[in-house]
Amino acid sequence: MSDPTSATVRLCADLIRARCVNDGSPESGHEHRAVEILRDHLGVAGEVVESAPGRQSLVVRIPGTDPGAPSLCLMGHTDVVPVTESGWSQDPFGGEVRDGYLWGRGAVDMLNVTSAMAVVTGRYLRGELPPLPGDLIFFAVADEEAGGILGARHVLEERPELVEAEYLLTEIAMPTIPTPGGPVIPVTASEKGPAWRRYSSRGVPGHASQPHGRISALVPAARAVARFADDGGTAEISDEWRRFVAGLGLSPDEERAMTDPDRIDEAIDRLAVEDPGFARWVHACTRLTVTPTTLHSGVKANVVPDVADGDLDVRVLPGQDAASVDEHFRKVLGPDLYDDLEFDIILDESATASAPEGLLWESIGDAAEAVAGHRRLLPALIPVGTDARFFRRRGTVAYGVGLFDERMSFGDLLTMFHGNDERVSLGSLDLTTALLAETVGRFGERSSPGP
Ligand SMILES: [Zn+2]
Repeated sequence: MSDPTSATVRLCADLIRARCVNDGSPESGHEHRAVEILRDHLGVAGEVVESAPGRQSLVVRIPGTDPGAPSLCLMGHTDVVPVTESGWSQDPFGGEVRDGYLWGRGAVDMLNVTSAMAVVTGRYLRGELPPLPGDLIFFAVADEEAGGILGARHVLEERPELVEAEYLLTEIAMPTIPTPGGPVIPVTASEKGPAWRRYSSRGVPGHASQPHGRISALVPAARAVARFADDGGTAEISDEWRRFVAGLGLSPDEERAMTDPDRIDEAIDRLAVEDPGFARWVHACTRLTVTPTTLHSGVKANVVPDVADGDLDVRVLPGQDAASVDEHFRKVLGPDLYDDLEFDIILDESATASAPEGLLWESIGDAAEAVAGHRRLLPALIPVGTDARFFRRRGTVAYGVGLFDERMSFGDLLTMFHGNDERVSLGSLDLTTALLAETVGRFGERSSPGP
């Protein structure tokens, strides 16, 4: 399963070398490089949508045989987040294979899955596999790492007919989790909503040599940052979380602790000793989180600042909305500090979810059974946002799935996501390709009218 020359390994290495680094500015990304590589690999021109110079997304559609049959879209982003080169032991854009891993930025987010999707699509394009009843769409999308504005959202607004589908596979793909009942495969079925806010405060400028009685804009802003940072959040258990925990095969008492808002924080403290990454994940999946990420204020050492502002990364659980955010802010800041600040909305998106059942879910189960020997799928809530949210809001059923070998753990993935020394085992690239290929095939069989 770990042939270093497999098509997915080669393609993933090429995509890593394409260095489609998205720093959040419209001039970054350069996803046209990935589009060129993918067109070359697939041997077709496809449809290219360009949202800004160089910000290209590629769509390749393979028409189905039955116009009434459901369509399936394989969506993988081609951009990656920046790196801190000094933290890496290998060249982050070398696409090198060492010790049985392919190293480089994007190896697990998500060039691994994007390349597997392209390899599967190629088999259908070359006629190695018969067409599905419904359309099969390969969508290599730009700008996921900056919120999808120049990628998925743009394509859905400008050319929806290219990518709209009843079913969608995308990220995030997570390694298998061991449980007493055998390994389970996490399948992303829901994600928290980004509800980012900008906060600001006002003061009166003056000479900083005489601070008595001055109103500095910096002080309430800094107090707010400290309060948000010190607050542990208020635990809330969603159905999605309950379902995830139920699949972990914990003892009845552990399971109760992980789903009881009064006990979850103790459980997180215990987890943090062994596995800080997983503890962080559990914490994020069980509450509205607020992380102060920027604070700008002041112009000079001797001038009392008249303005301070900054951003808050806020993520809401299923069922929470803008009112939940406001209520949380009031509670954490207290009425006085809350009134000293102004809040503006940067993003106000709710959580999205697809039910873990139905045609695509069962097709993934069939595929898992064929490739991994069992169909223990674990529907997972993820604390991060993906492009799946745009599709779920339009009624598409969307999941994220892959398959990893024993060289990759859930904890490894959490550490490597946007981190240093990102890498994927070669076996995992082949397993993800096999799982996706089988899923697409079973989806076709299950959506056939039958004899
Ligand atoms: Zn990603």
